[in-house]
Amino acid sequence: MAEKKNAKKNEALREKLLYAPKNGYDTISEKELAEMEEYCKGYKLFLDNGKTERMCVEYCIELATARGFKPYERGMKLKAGDKIYVNNRDKGIMLAVIGTQPLDKGANIGAAHTDAPRLDLKPRPLYEDSEIAYFKTHHYGGIRKYQWVTVPLELHGVAVLRDGTVQKISVGRDEGDPQFIINDLLPHLGREQNKKPLGEAIPSENLNVLVGSRPFADDEGKDRVKLSVLDHLNKTYGISEEDLISAEIEMVPAGTARDIGFDRSLIAAYGHDDRVCAYAELAALFAVEKPEKTAVCIFADKEEIGSEGVSGMQSGAFDAFMEDLCESQGVALRACYANSFCLSADVTAAYDPNFAEVYEKRNSAYINYGVGVCKYTGAGGKSGASDASAEVVGKLRKALNDNGVAWQMAELGKTDAGGGGTVAMFMAKRNIDTIDAGVPVLSMHAPYETVAKYDCYMTYRAMKAIFRMK
Ligand code: MN
Ligand code: MN
Repeated sequence: MAEKKNAKKNEALREKLLYAPKNGYDTISEKELAEMEEYCKGYKLFLDNGKTERMCVEYCIELATARGFKPYERGMKLKAGDKIYVNNRDKGIMLAVIGTQPLDKGANIGAAHTDAPRLDLKPRPLYEDSEIAYFKTHHYGGIRKYQWVTVPLELHGVAVLRDGTVQKISVGRDEGDPQFIINDLLPHLGREQNKKPLGEAIPSENLNVLVGSRPFADDEGKDRVKLSVLDHLNKTYGISEEDLISAEIEMVPAGTARDIGFDRSLIAAYGHDDRVCAYAELAALFAVEKPEKTAVCIFADKEEIGSEGVSGMQSGAFDAFMEDLCESQGVALRACYANSFCLSADVTAAYDPNFAEVYEKRNSAYINYGVGVCKYTGAGGKSGASDASAEVVGKLRKALNDNGVAWQMAELGKTDAGGGGTVAMFMAKRNIDTIDAGVPVLSMHAPYETVAKYDCYMTYRAMKAIFRMK
């Protein structure tokens, strides 16, 4: 009898003292399940409409406008509950819902990025070889090049014509559109290529996209296929070869976001990193009515290449936006920053049992365990990390627990396995308390990445909790 009593007591002690994260499906309610599915429907639409950072901005504006958000102009009078946005050069966007408290009490900020690894066209992309026309590409962000061959591609972007007209180009997404492809070697002739390390088997200069093969009719000159492609581009978009120099055209994986698994518990798509967190922020911001603290979202561009450039998180565009808001209330930007909280909402690596050797089991994020919180990112001895303080981790943990959000602590793989960064350090540099959190992703940066619906939903719930923070 005494033994049994002890067992019960020990069990209670275990429950009290041990940290035991649970699979989300063990605790999720029917109501939450329904809400999760509904949320993920909206998210999949966001992915299908936002295949590039420019398309994300466009779609954000469409969604925000339908919910009463207005374009903000410097000097505009603002009151609590006002919903505004600023479009940063069609490549980034900042949105805010004005709080009841003045901005020197701080803002609650969600920062995500909507650029994703891809193949950009080189400034002089078009050439012909052996009567086949190709586009030369320059990859953007960290990709594993071998993954991008024999994958159907779409093309999206703009070309600025000689007269200054900005011409949009979008091919491959609409039903019936042609698509593009990069060819690979057949196994029959792959003996030498097979011996190369993965990182060298497909060199960058081999990532040439097949764009045509039909020669220009009734022509005896050279480059007849190239001419034929240019003739098509000219007739359709008014583009000449020189116009491609002032163009920004991205090749991205074709196809739409799809449910994965018999149980439909996962979603595969291009660009979860970091649209999955951007959408969580956006949906949470749309759920905000009159917050105490001003709720701010920024979707930055250029995160995948170091957050540089005018549309990146290091740009003064964000400071200008925040300073304008502060000025409209007669408060100092530095006071606002010092009292603000930022969730750098970015994805983390999900533990993959197929590659167990690069993960540290006790400190990895697992699919279906909720939003992954990262105290630090970086590489080696935390180099390049902003490393949130215990106080900031504690504040986030409390906000998540108080709002019933499932979360887990995560590191990106084994300490010596590699590393990565986010926009967190650039927010922290502004004297804003910042911490990373986001959805764990399988095959991050691949043409098709996979995430769990449960984690998407919990990241949305986490953003809602952030916007409620006092
Ligand atoms: Mn990211
Ligand atoms: Mn990334």
